[in-house]
Amino acid sequence: MSTAVIIGGGASGLASAFYIQKFLPKYAKVIVLESAKRAGGWMYTSKYSDGCIFEHGPRSLRPVGEQGKNTLQLVEELGLAKDVLPVFRSDPAAKNRYLYVEGKLCAMPNGVGGLFKTLPPFSKPLIKSVGLEPFHRRCKENDESIHSFVRRRLGQEMADIAIDAMCRGIFAGDCRKLSVQACLPPLHRMEKEYGSILAGALFGSKGPKEQLSGLPKRAKQEGWASWSLRQGMQGLAESMTQAVNNTHGGEVRFGSRCVKLYPSSGDAGKITVQTDSDTIHADLVVSAIYSKDLASLLPGTMEGLREDLSALPSVHVVVVNLEYKDDVLPVKGFGHLLPSYENKSILGIVYDSCTFPEHNRKGSPNSTRLTVMMGGAWYDQLLNADGVLPDGKELVWKATEAAAKQLGIRSHPIRWHVSLNKECIPQYQVGHVTWVDGLEEKLRQSKLPLHLVGASYRGPAVNDCINNARKMVQAMATGT
Ligand SMILES: Cc1cc2nc3c(=O)[nH]c(=O)nc-3n(C[C@H](O)[C@H](O)[C@H](O)COP(=O)(O)OP(=O)(O)OC[C@H]3O[C@@H](n4cnc5c(N)ncnc54)[C@H](O)[C@@H]3O)c2cc1C
Repeated sequence: MSTAVIIGGGASGLASAFYIQKFLPKYAKVIVLESAKRAGGWMYTSKYSDGCIFEHGPRSLRPVGEQGKNTLQLVEELGLAKDVLPVFRSDPAAKNRYLYVEGKLCAMPNGVGGLFKTLPPFSKPLIKSVGLEPFHRRCKENDESIHSFVRRRLGQEMADIAIDAMCRGIFAGDCRKLSVQACLPPLHRMEKEYGSILAGALFGSKGPKEQLSGLPKRAKQEGWASWSLRQGMQGLAESMTQAVNNTHGGEVRFGSRCVKLYPSSGDAGKITVQTDSDTIHADLVVSAIYSKDLASLLPGTMEGLREDLSALPSVHVVVVNLEYKDDVLPVKGFGHLLPSYENKSILGIVYDSCTFPEHNRKGSPNSTRLTVMMGGAWYDQLLNADGVLPDGKELVWKATEAAAKQLGIRSHPIRWHVSLNKECIPQYQVGHVTWVDGLEEKLRQSKLPLHLVGASYRGPAVNDCINNARKMVQAMATGT
């Protein structure tokens, strides 16, 4: 009887287990080891008895692309279609995004018309940058920073303001260090193949016309921009857990930490997995944890691999959820971001109640829920003179101050929650793709049945994590 062990019960680990059960039935036993007492990893939702929901990690997923459609298919297979909360492209929460610059909220253009106007904080209509884009030279290097790519193609202002802020919103990272090849692969590919983003968008292959069905079809027909679940994002992880446990031979073990991983002696092709309470001889191990954490599980004899795995940096993010009485938001939209020159430690504020009013407390549909994101690559700026993070009370004060200054919300929140998410977003710096390719090659050469999935490698978004887990399992199933 073959046994597969998956280390980590976040989106990547649970999806790996789900797809192994679906496509690789030879693994009669599928065990997920999760050190925490709950499923989901960074997919972490607090649900209050009055119906209010706070997300401390991801809050919405996009339905588009191979990855987006794959997650929707999974949602359908898990029987969660009835719980999906779509955000339509016509909703203010999808159309309106803001930058906070020089004391003002500035609406980003949300249609072609907006490109022709001079909209603050930009000094000229964005169409000027877009129109000149095809005439800029191609980069000779294979990779460069996102900032350098955008400055070259779209100009200094776009790079310093819009892209700087966007990278803080998505990666909590510094666009001067993040890799364009790893973080924005479609843009990188368009330049390499067509010489420009515009040419790639206009003339790039759209692929064969797809036959959509079920939720992906509904999402396309109804024009969804994003979606969540009625029970919050952690509900997706809980449903995957249930599906794995309900399939014969499947087991998700909570409070079970993997402490060591080494090639089984005298049993070539097997891996010994030591947990804090037992030892498992596995025929297949999938690591679905941060690469640095995997490094710490490997033996000294694998020093080269350990060193490589430890090389990936990550950032800490402080997430402060706030709830206010009544609708106190001055604008409707998804939220606003701050470029790093404006305020280093506050990355942005998400207007959760505008996107998902269904997650407001019952009986008070007009309450306002916000999430203030802080830290990331600028985490050090949050620390006090002794190099210590202020306590929760002070962080709530800092968050409410930001909401007061940036959104004019003068009332006091009626509920709040602070979480320090340590090493939560891996930073794909320039050269990241080469690093991942090298790691995978080393693992192939080692002939160990150890596979890597998760946010450390080929995309940190939940959709990437789930889709990469499926692709890994299907490649094993087809021997490719
Ligand atoms: C604040 C924040 C907001 C985000 N917003 C979005 C968003 O809006 N949209 C989006 O798509 N993505 C978002 N992301 C990114 C996304 O949530 C994560 O990249 C993704 O959930 C990572 O999933 P994972 O399974 O790869 O890793 P994790 O979620 O890190 O899961 C790994 C699991 O392994 C467990 N573990 C670790 N070591 C061991 C061990 N030795 N033994 C057993 N178990 C172990 C951990 O407890 C954890 O549960 C956000 C992330 C954060 C932090």
